[in-house]
Amino acid sequence: LEEGARSCLLRCRHRLEEDIKPPYLMDHMISDGVMTVDEEERITTQVNQAVSLVELLLMKDNRAYISFYNALIKEKYEDLAILLFPNLPRTLTDGQKNTSDAVLSEGGVPQRPVVFVSRPELLNRVREKLYRLQKDPGWITVFGMAGSGKSVLAAEAVRDHRLIEDCFPGGIHWLSIGQVEKPDLLVKIQSLCFRLEQNLDSQSLSRPPNSLDEAKERLRFLMLRKYPRTLLILDDIWDSTVLKAFDIQCRLLLTTRNRSLTDSVMESGLDESKGLEILALYTKAKVQGLPEEARSIVRECKGSPLVVSLIGALLKEKPNRWRYYLCQLQQKQFKRIRKSSSYDYDALDQAMAASIEVLPDEHQDLYKDLTVIEKDVKIPAKVLSVLWDLEQEEVEDILEEFVNKSLLFVDNNSKPYLYYLHDLQLDFLVEQNRTQLEDLHTKVVRQYQQHYRYGPPTSGDEECLYWIRFLTYHMAKANLSQELYSLMFSLDWVSIKAQIMGPAHLINDYVEFGPILDKENSEVRSQFQEFLSLNGHQLEQRPFPDVVQLALSQPHTSEVYRQALQQAQDRARSG
Ligand code: ADP
Repeated sequence: LEEGARSCLLRCRHRLEEDIKPPYLMDHMISDGVMTVDEEERITTQVNQAVSLVELLLMKDNRAYISFYNALIKEKYEDLAILLFPNLPRTLTDGQKNTSDAVLSEGGVPQRPVVFVSRPELLNRVREKLYRLQKDPGWITVFGMAGSGKSVLAAEAVRDHRLIEDCFPGGIHWLSIGQVEKPDLLVKIQSLCFRLEQNLDSQSLSRPPNSLDEAKERLRFLMLRKYPRTLLILDDIWDSTVLKAFDIQCRLLLTTRNRSLTDSVMESGLDESKGLEILALYTKAKVQGLPEEARSIVRECKGSPLVVSLIGALLKEKPNRWRYYLCQLQQKQFKRIRKSSSYDYDALDQAMAASIEVLPDEHQDLYKDLTVIEKDVKIPAKVLSVLWDLEQEEVEDILEEFVNKSLLFVDNNSKPYLYYLHDLQLDFLVEQNRTQLEDLHTKVVRQYQQHYRYGPPTSGDEECLYWIRFLTYHMAKANLSQELYSLMFSLDWVSIKAQIMGPAHLINDYVEFGPILDKENSEVRSQFQEFLSLNGHQLEQRPFPDVVQLALSQPHTSEVYRQALQQAQDRARSG
């Protein structure tokens, strides 16, 4: 502990000793990792806990002081926090810590979950391997079942400023992959290239790569020339085609549930003691003090931290229900149509059902609406505010409730915050609501139409991006073919979507929904598609070109030409 901070603690020691109630403060300090459970235990047995806590702080480092300060604020001891504030340490190491925080958040590395237990052994193994990438490029794989904590582990492994400084001074970039088709993968790599190029501050942003091969070459160039000694983290890879696109001699950490992808395997299952630790954190108890059901619960969850977190959140609210939740986990009331070979869903299904059941009825319905979100897509509260027709503040409160129950996760690296489900949770919802999928998607489309009756959003914010990107997907899933034709056979929509998202997504739409569109008119579908492939590179340009002008050079028999001519005439008429 640095000099100033120490003497400040000594100065206001008496005030602190008189006023603070250590248990809650210590909880914060434990979750910041500056205090161990043993230390806490020792303090709790003392007659005067406050005195012992200050005593301990005096022996600790700057981080402990900062954590204590933050804990005071969180527990509403602002008057005491003010006393400590002038001497908050600003040493070199904190400075370094902040820069590495910035590196991580810029690269989109997710933050820790609210309840978090550290897994030092695994962590060290991953870090050790990462250190091997200091000199040479290479891959490291974290393997494990879905929901076993791979992503959390990968993110935690790079949360170490020494490692960043020593091995990856070029930065760390996170890319969630999931189960993607080629076009989606292209879009993901495009946005990665865009992110990397934007950081370079170069004057002329080059146009996005148009094919996977081109994307791979672009990425190779960027990584080799502009971002040497940078780590790419690919989260949740399903198959090897994805890996081929990243076979570019770079430094790579990937997580996967597919064992056949890995040569250097590192399992990430959770052992029993860690599961117990999670339950202890949720219920603010000591591991030794947990009831005997705790062990059985962890066993029923097969150590999956995702499932344990769901149960933990329930127990936080109802601490007397250990036996009850254990029994719920043991029930086998759900039957999955598609049972994944690598994962036993029973416990997850039971835990999800139990967590949903304790929501108020109207919130259960709102949660059900989340079934329609695509996997690996994060959404801002504003989209749900349209879907649910509620004020944004109300939506945020509801989302917070879901997050507290581990039914939903939040990425607060981004502004606005983005929310997402674990894909096993989405599997559960889709399975549960199999018969209502069409209605649920229809609701999305109807709410959108209601909200944006005067035209699509064009602000370019996260909400706008969501609608422009996924409206067609919801229409297709809702079987609203009529709506889908009129949108996709409209030059206005093409122009808006190309301007906001670039042409790749748009072309992808025509390919993906081609079979539906062709039922209406395959000629028109191919006319639009042709227009886009011919003009793709123009539509990448900024300032954005005049789409009507571009469209006028289409063959006169094309629907694209017809609409453009119409608009040109309207323009002429209105001067
Ligand atoms: P995977 O990537 O293997 O599918 P995640 O890393 O996304 O799994 O973890 C799933 C959930 O499990 C997280 O959202 C979190 O709630 C919980 N979890 C994972 N690791 C931990 C941990 N170390 N401490 C506490 N909870 C964890």
